[in-house]
Amino acid sequence: MAAQFKKLALIGIGLIGSSIALAARRNGLVGTIAIATRKQETLDEAKALNLGDIYTLDSAEAVKGADLVILCAPVGTYAKLAETIAPHLEPGAIISDVGSVKEHVLNAVGPYLPDTVHFIPGHPLAGTEHSGPSAGFAELFVGRWCVLTPGEEVPQAEVDKLIGFWQGMGSNVECMDAAHHDMVLAITSHIPHLIAYNIVGTVADLEASTKSEVIKFSASGFRDFTRIAASDPVMWRDIFLTNRDAVLEMLGRFSEDLSALQRAVRTGDGASLEALFTRTRAIRRSIINAGQETAAADFGRAHEAAPKTDDKA
Ligand code: NAP
Repeated sequence: MAAQFKKLALIGIGLIGSSIALAARRNGLVGTIAIATRKQETLDEAKALNLGDIYTLDSAEAVKGADLVILCAPVGTYAKLAETIAPHLEPGAIISDVGSVKEHVLNAVGPYLPDTVHFIPGHPLAGTEHSGPSAGFAELFVGRWCVLTPGEEVPQAEVDKLIGFWQGMGSNVECMDAAHHDMVLAITSHIPHLIAYNIVGTVADLEASTKSEVIKFSASGFRDFTRIAASDPVMWRDIFLTNRDAVLEMLGRFSEDLSALQRAVRTGDGASLEALFTRTRAIRRSIINAGQETAAADFGRAHEAAPKTDDKA
């Protein structure tokens, strides 16, 4: 199959940027890959991993002649990056991103871009708690959703090209309005992260003896929060700073439901507790049925056999 894009420029080459580089290359979706990042050591790491063809610390240089540009840095850097690359963009190019919030991206990037390019913000709903160029892998997007939020002015043929690119990396693609994306992601991703940061933070503040027991007995539930709470601090700072309204709206609802739960515990309302826990169990089953999670017990973690006891002893 002929490559869909002759030159892909990736601005930022962490977990998501490096996964795009590997997946686009493996699936023959692009000709040349240009990589730009901020620090020399990150660029050297990307080069050692052979992620692209052109390596530069100058994002304006990377986008020259590119027919697809994807911003893969933390969303807080987007406005400055857009201002820097705008005068160097190829007419007819598609400019996209992978940022976890979308309305902010429209407002931060859109005003800098010339009318000659097609701006189609995007967000792959795929990731891990690891960061940097060596965290990426080509299969990251397989079977996962990618949301695109094109404005009405973008020709459908251009949107279709970008849909084809993400599908070529194994993603399912859905287009929606940026504000709707932000509301949905606030409850499915941003609030769960806030809860995880909060509970792990509470433990961090506990006095030393209790803390060591929490670490020791963490497998009883706490451990699963720590995976989420180990996510990149800069990325998540930017998400909460740029999706404030949707997060506060959903946090309000969450707090009301938490108060109801607190009341059920205090008043010994077992029926309410059991009814809620039954509903939530069904939601997990539907996520597994939708192929978005493994059905294996305990997230498929390996469980070692108990050490053999000596019968004669
Ligand atoms: P990451 O692994 O921390 O990598 C971030 C990259 O951005 C690094 O290469 C960093 O380079 C670069 N960068 C930072 N500031 C820059 C600047 N001013 N100019 C150019 N490059 C700069 O982050 P990530 O997880 O790939 O996340 C990147 C984006 O994907 C974020 O917008 C995030 O919202 C979105 N996203 C993340 C996930 C996830 O689970 N991680 C999922 C979906 C979407 P240096 O090392 O050179 O500073």
